[in-house]
Amino acid sequence: MLSKSITIIESTKTEDRIVAQEILEACLPITNTSRRVGISGAPGAGKSTFIDAFGSMLLNSNKSIAVLAVDPSSTISKGSILGDKTRMEQIVNHPNCFIRPSASNNTLGGVARHTREAIVLCEAFGFDYIFVETVGVGQSETMVKKMVDVFLLLLLPNSGDELQGIKRGIMEMADIVLINKADGMNSSLAKTAAAQVKMALHLFAANENNWTIPVLTLSSLEKTGLEEVKSRVDSYFLQMESSGYFTKNRTTQQIHWFEEEIVQSILSHLEENSKTKKLRDELIKQIESNQIDPVSAAEKITKSILK
Ligand code: GDP
Repeated sequence: MLSKSITIIESTKTEDRIVAQEILEACLPITNTSRRVGISGAPGAGKSTFIDAFGSMLLNSNKSIAVLAVDPSSTISKGSILGDKTRMEQIVNHPNCFIRPSASNNTLGGVARHTREAIVLCEAFGFDYIFVETVGVGQSETMVKKMVDVFLLLLLPNSGDELQGIKRGIMEMADIVLINKADGMNSSLAKTAAAQVKMALHLFAANENNWTIPVLTLSSLEKTGLEEVKSRVDSYFLQMESSGYFTKNRTTQQIHWFEEEIVQSILSHLEENSKTKKLRDELIKQIESNQIDPVSAAEKITKSILK
């Protein structure tokens, strides 16, 4: 039922949008509180392996989990869920686990919009944890940060050397930094990387939530360090809930969602309303032939919509 509902909310058909609205309105007031966990990291950092191992640990302690992907390029959308099942094989068949590959809508805004709605649905279905996976390379991190309660960043043991290459903005978003693949020959490299990342984090200004970002080493493959991750995630929630930041953050996110929806609605209107669409096409032609500048053209179309 959850899968079908998400398919409906991802649909662009007008008749589906009406049902989607009803589903959302029914789900929004349900007050389960799932832990929304964002997971980011470059391709190959081990996100799928981590979610598989960490998720499996949670499932074994009787928790339920949902896994959503944001990027069209995300690992869980590579077809392997339905194909070779080599990814997340420990959790994929568990009755308390729901995995949803990436939204089919390939514009970033569209994917984000549907992911947010999918989170609401998963929460209404009562999952204890909702993981939102994203690739640590672009804009999608910023969007995911605005949908989750805690943001985990997965790095490789050589990250210390390559810290310059990691976008500062992404580092600043992390609530917990995980140096994955701390096994075999990489164990000592991972420790060095952790020390370097810790040092780099000291240079950043303090967070508004007064949280000291832990940098942990783990091996998703050998399943070491996972308990420590769980314990830090628990501490994070405990501290944020008791300080009131948790609720404040969710409210801020709701307002952000509202503002994004306004923009999205206007954009949809541009696509769907034949009169506006016609005007837009005309203005594009005028821009192409230098008859009007983009700012005046945008103003014209905004005025027309507002009318
Ligand atoms: P993703 O692209 O971030 O989802 O990364 P994957 O989870 O697909 O992992 C990429 C590769 O790294 C795979 O071959 C994994 O088996 C391997 N890998 C993931 N976690 C670990 C780990 O903790 N230790 C080692 N040695 N390899 C790992």
